[in-house]
Amino acid sequence: MPHWINPEVPHLPVEVDEGITLDELVTRIQDARGRPLRIEELAELTENDSALCGLWLATDDADIILHAPSESPLHRNQFILHELAHMLLLHDRVDDTGGYLTPSVLSGFENATIIKALGRDSISDEYEFAAERLADVLATRMRRRPVSKFSEIFG
Ligand SMILES: [Zn+2]
Repeated sequence: MPHWINPEVPHLPVEVDEGITLDELVTRIQDARGRPLRIEELAELTENDSALCGLWLATDDADIILHAPSESPLHRNQFILHELAHMLLLHDRVDDTGGYLTPSVLSGFENATIIKALGRDSISDEYEFAAERLADVLATRMRRRPVSKFSEIFG
């Protein structure tokens, strides 16, 4: 079975099995980073900037994913997977942070020490493109269920 990510690409040591759930993936990433990971909806994300669907705040002691509200669970998953992809690709260790922004919607987080806020508003950016591609890979792997519990038991 092919590895889920090109081993040449620096990434967090997290296994992404076929059929993995979002919760399982979040737990694995949290364990690999050794700090809590919270996911919260932030209404201002769509109201102020329609292009900004999600953000990852890496503070001194926690990771926070903020995503735009969505009626569609599929869209919500995509917003979250995109930010998880940034984590898996170690984008908080990238020196070149010039392209990233701390948008005005984050005024409520002034007390947090934000070392990086990754917005999804610059899809042409090299890191955004890489995260978007990996999010697609993650979504595909999550959809795959090679052996269902039913066929395991009754097949
Ligand atoms: Zn992004």
